[in-house]
Amino acid sequence: MKYPEVVPMVLGDTVIPPGSAKTVDLQIARLLSGTEIHMPVHVFRSEKPGPTVLLSGGLHGDEVNGIEAVRRMMSLRLFNDLPCGTVVAIPIINVYGFLFFSREVPDGKDVNRSFPGSTQGSLASLVAHTLTDKVLPHIDLALDFHTGGASRTNSPQVRYDPEDPDAIRYARAFGAPMSMASSLIPGSLRAQGRSMGVPIIVYEGGESMRLEESAVKDAIRGTKRLLSSLGMYAHKTPKVRGLKDRHGKGSAPRHLSQTTWVRAEASGLFSFERESGQAIAEGELIGRIRNPYDSYSVKVFAPFDGFIIGHNNMPLVHRGDALFHVGRESDWP
Ligand SMILES: [Zn+2]
Repeated sequence: MKYPEVVPMVLGDTVIPPGSAKTVDLQIARLLSGTEIHMPVHVFRSEKPGPTVLLSGGLHGDEVNGIEAVRRMMSLRLFNDLPCGTVVAIPIINVYGFLFFSREVPDGKDVNRSFPGSTQGSLASLVAHTLTDKVLPHIDLALDFHTGGASRTNSPQVRYDPEDPDAIRYARAFGAPMSMASSLIPGSLRAQGRSMGVPIIVYEGGESMRLEESAVKDAIRGTKRLLSSLGMYAHKTPKVRGLKDRHGKGSAPRHLSQTTWVRAEASGLFSFERESGQAIAEGELIGRIRNPYDSYSVKVFAPFDGFIIGHNNMPLVHRGDALFHVGRESDWP
C-alpha cells in the first residue's frame, strides 16, 4: 500500500500537522444534568508518510481491558517516536457506558449496532455518527479492543472478517494466542469500516468489569507486532505467546474455526473444570452442574478436540445457558 505525502490532518476543528501530537475532544451530547460529554481522541503523527492506524477501546463501556490496553500504550509512550504514519488512539468510545459501568449507552442501545449513526438519532447513534463522520475517513486500518462479556472470560484472541484479505493479514501480524474468523454484524463498527474500505480487527481478552493483566499485556504485545509489520514500531517486537496442546506440550498461537457453544443441559450450580485458553479432548469432562439440594449432578463434556475460547463464570446457570465457547484448531485461510 502506498501512502500519500503527509498533509495536515483536520479532526473536528483541530489541525494536526505531521510530526506533532494533539488531543482533540470531539463533542457528543449532554447528560441530563447539562454536562457536556466529549470523546477525547489522541493523535500521534510522524513526519514520514505511512498508514493511519486507529486503536480504540470502550465501544462497550464495561469492557475495561480494552480501555486499559489503549491507555497503557499511550502511557508507555509507544507512539511518541513513530518511524512513519499516524496513530489515532481513543481509549473510550462509549464514555456514557463507562460512566455507568454499562455495555450500552444509558438509553439501553448498543453503539456497536448503531453504525453508521446519525445526528438526529439516539445517544448510541450520535456516538456512532461521530466516529463514522469525523474519525474513520482518516483511517487506513483499525484495531478495536474489547473484553469478554458479563461474567464470561474470553481467552485473549483476535477476530477478523474472513471476506477481507487485509483483515486476515493484520490478524496474522498481530499474532494473538488465539485467532478466528468472525462474520460482520450489521450496524457494527467493523461493518461500517468494511463499507468505507477500512479493515478492522477486534481483540477480546478477559471479562467485562474485571481488569486482567495478561489480557492487557497480550493486547499491547500484539499491537507492537502489528505496528512493526507496518514499519511503525522501531523497537524489538515481543515474542508470540502460544497455547499448550492437551498433553501440556508445545506452545503455539492457535487458529480456530467451527466455533460453537456448549450449553447447560440442566439448571443449577455450575463449576468449570477447564477454562478459557485450555486445550480440550473430545469426551473430556470440562464442567459440572449440580442441583443445590443435591438431587442431581450433570457432567459437561467437550464436544470435540479443540480449545476453549471463553467460559462462563456464573455460579448459577439455567438450562440452555452458554457455558463454554469452543473451537477446533485449523489452518489460516
Ligand atoms: Zn465488546
